[in-house]
Amino acid sequence: MSKPGIVFLMYHELEIPGRPLSHGEPGYVRYAISALDFREQMRQIQQSGYIGYSVSQALEFPGTPSVGITFDDGCESDVLAAAPVLREFAFGATFYVTYEWLEQKGHLSLRQLKELSQQGFEIGCHSMTHAYLNELDDRGLQSEIVEPKVKLEQAIGKAVHHFSCPGGRYNRRVAEVARKAGYRSVATSRIHPNSPHTDPFCLGRVAVMRGTPLKAVHAIFTGKALARLRTQSQFRNAAKWLFGNSLYDRMRALALGSHDLPRR
Ligand SMILES: [Zn+2]
Repeated sequence: MSKPGIVFLMYHELEIPGRPLSHGEPGYVRYAISALDFREQMRQIQQSGYIGYSVSQALEFPGTPSVGITFDDGCESDVLAAAPVLREFAFGATFYVTYEWLEQKGHLSLRQLKELSQQGFEIGCHSMTHAYLNELDDRGLQSEIVEPKVKLEQAIGKAVHHFSCPGGRYNRRVAEVARKAGYRSVATSRIHPNSPHTDPFCLGRVAVMRGTPLKAVHAIFTGKALARLRTQSQFRNAAKWLFGNSLYDRMRALALGSHDLPRR
């Protein structure tokens, strides 16, 4: 019997009591969960007999029940809220950082980035400026995928092996440029577990959204809920393809009651 594969969870900013999120648009907030909920989820993973791993650890496909734990964007809550909880449970994780957001309000400083890395967490790259990669020409892909790898490596003094796509926008050119730049994987927002048979340049991940009940989180990391989630996301992807990124964002913002254009 082949192994069922490992589900990679995708987190963003964690909400810390008494501290406002870095953005207030509904399209942003729905990806931000509270630090308390995050801790409950990590506890549930542990109590279910699973271990949380970074992307590098998970891609070694340890024989034990495992969950990949990833964060996008490089929010300050990575170091303030996520890292202490992960250390409490002795879990690994990969933090994908948008290079130009470093030192910006609500995001990691260079010092905090180094701290996270020195604590043993894996630093990945989430592009230079958070541009939607499927809209870029070759030059644009170079500056969003290749250049931030070098800068992040200089900042932490370690190699950066993994890349995640802003807004989940992905195509084969992105995978090609990342592979040539020396990355070992590209994480998308496609909803599937990852196994030794998965193309590492098209890893699946599942976003844990605000208000997701613990029972549903359990159904995600054990893989049971993925088929249903996949159907839902296929509708969204069809809409993105039909309307294009910017119209899709505008329609989504309208549907969520916001005039801002969330670009997470
Ligand atoms: Zn992002």
